Amino acid sequence: MTTQQSIAEVKRGDLKKAARLLRSKEVRVNCLDENGMTPLMHAAYKGQADVCKLLLHHGADVNCNEHEYGYTALMFASLSGNAEITCMMLDAGAETDPVNSVGRTAAQMAAFVGQHDCVTVINNFFSKTKLEYYTKPQGLEKEPMLPPKLAGPLYKIIMTTNLNPVKMVMMVKENPLLVDVVALEKCYRVLDLLCEQCVKQQDMNEVLAMKMHYISCVLQKCLAFLRERDDKLDTLLKSLLKGRDGDGFPEYQEKFIRDCIWKFPYCEATLLHQLIQNIAPDETVSETGSAPMAFSALTQALTGQMALMDAELCATCGERGADKKCSFCKMVVYCGQACQKLHWFTHKKVCKALQQQKDFINEECPRVREIPANANGYDDIEGTCSSLLGLCLGFAELEHSHSFSQNYCEPSNAVAVAMPGCQDRGRDDHPRDIRPHNLH
Ligand SMILES: [Zn+2]
Ligand SMILES: [Zn+2]
Repeated sequence: MTTQQSIAEVKRGDLKKAARLLRSKEVRVNCLDENGMTPLMHAAYKGQADVCKLLLHHGADVNCNEHEYGYTALMFASLSGNAEITCMMLDAGAETDPVNSVGRTAAQMAAFVGQHDCVTVINNFFSKTKLEYYTKPQGLEKEPMLPPKLAGPLYKIIMTTNLNPVKMVMMVKENPLLVDVVALEKCYRVLDLLCEQCVKQQDMNEVLAMKMHYISCVLQKCLAFLRERDDKLDTLLKSLLKGRDGDGFPEYQEKFIRDCIWKFPYCEATLLHQLIQNIAPDETVSETGSAPMAFSALTQALTGQMALMDAELCATCGERGADKKCSFCKMVVYCGQACQKLHWFTHKKVCKALQQQKDFINEECPRVREIPANANGYDDIEGTCSSLLGLCLGFAELEHSHSFSQNYCEPSNAVAVAMPGCQDRGRDDHPRDIRPHNLH
């Protein structure tokens, strides 16, 4: 069996054949094709998770850098848009810093072709072994700083890409181990240490430092509420969701996130300065139903994603892909009934106004219309709200569902950039010549 044949099998994605080949001594797991691509690079680009797993299991070198244009397996994984494989490469020790022949990292290449999920995965990656370090007593310690049973649930929160504080509190709440004053105290102390490490290490990672700090703040907030009342964080969730009278803007949430940013302990960090600049304008300026500004700024800084896509973000927990509309106003979406129920106590105050706003926009002719005197008053709405709750809890499915990535990338573009050396080399849009305006 030749190298070419084995690579061909990997390309076909036949797991059994690939496994048989790898067991035979003649095939090297890191063999290269004519463009310097390893079987792992091919499998990563093709989105073959099982084959990638198998290759890594057989010792495939995730950092092999023999590709003619300097592409790594991580770059191919992120270009393919497969977040699972991207994560797998990172878990296997893939370095995020190497650049290809056009001077771009894996995250930058993924951003260029609109694979924002992969960008987020790379920017937020944190190795579990770094957390597990704290689950063993160090030096003279008798007990580890982090009880081993807390490492799993804490790691899950660290790895989340949804920074909505409501979602984070929900994640704490769903794990009984974490709804505990002592446990939360240990977790936030470890996060503070990790934050310090990210700042002080040689290649300072400000993004991860800010994220650790932010999660620490959320856990400290949970801790404060747990100390005050034994309601399993329900009051905290309500405080975070409660909208301002009139436009439903979640003031408490906005203020909480602002405070988190202000409290970041390393004032020399560039990221902090950018964030403070972005949230500096008047915090009270916001349109009804729009995402809090501090949250948008933080999300963009930490995940590289624009928080523009409110259209598919759950109004309660911020999870993407929410497809259940409030059946009254049809202006807000939720990921499920639990989230809608949780939000209703505050949404009911603006639901009717949103509905009227929508009706007004939908008027066929652009003529001036008289709005009834009580159109924006809530007095008559409040009374009927509770009886209407049952109705409103019925969901209307979204008529149009589309994936985010489709909005951002041209598939043909993705292929041209993604497969250097494998495509027509004489073409004008060869990756070496591409100067994507959004990467400068
Ligand atoms: Zn939700
Ligand atoms: Zn509504």
